[in-house]
Order: sequence, then structure tokens, then C-alpha cells
Amino acid sequence: MDYLDGNAAAGLLSEVFAVDVTVARGKCAHCGNVSVIAQAHLWPDDHGMVLRCRICSDVIAMATERDGKLCLDLRGLDWLELEV
Ligand SMILES: [Zn+2]
Repeated sequence: MDYLDGNAAAGLLSEVFAVDVTVARGKCAHCGNVSVIAQAHLWPDDHGMVLRCRICSDVIAMATERDGKLCLDLRGLDWLELEV
């Protein structure tokens, strides 16, 4: 399966964040790359999505939706900076 760019994450993540998270900057916990979420590579699946760093391909974030709940795993990011 081919990945989409991080802009495809906007719909699902807008359910959690009141700001546009695709323009948020994040630091990859694996390689230290800093870039906006829109530049990440998004791999969708039936239950959510996996965002991978565009430089090292390590997982930076995962989101799964089940039983009306959205679970976010952001441990692949050292930090996420949101415009408020
Ligand atoms: Zn990386």
C-alpha cells in the first residue's frame, strides 16, 4: 500500500484538536527531524492511521478509532508544537 501525505490526517485529528494539526511542528524522537505534520507520511488502515517520519520512516504517531473512541499514541514525537 502507498502512503498519503500528512495532510490526509487532518480529518481524523480535527476530532481531537481544535487547531489545524497539519501545520503543527513536531520533532521525531528517533532521528530528531523537525517538520510540520503535513510533511509526514500517512499510512491509513481500517481502524485509523500511522504517521511516519519522512526522513527515517520511524512511527511518529498512531491513531485508532474503535467503539466511538479515538486513541492517540504520540510517543514517536519528542514534542509537538501547536499554533494557538
Ligand atoms: Zn525521523
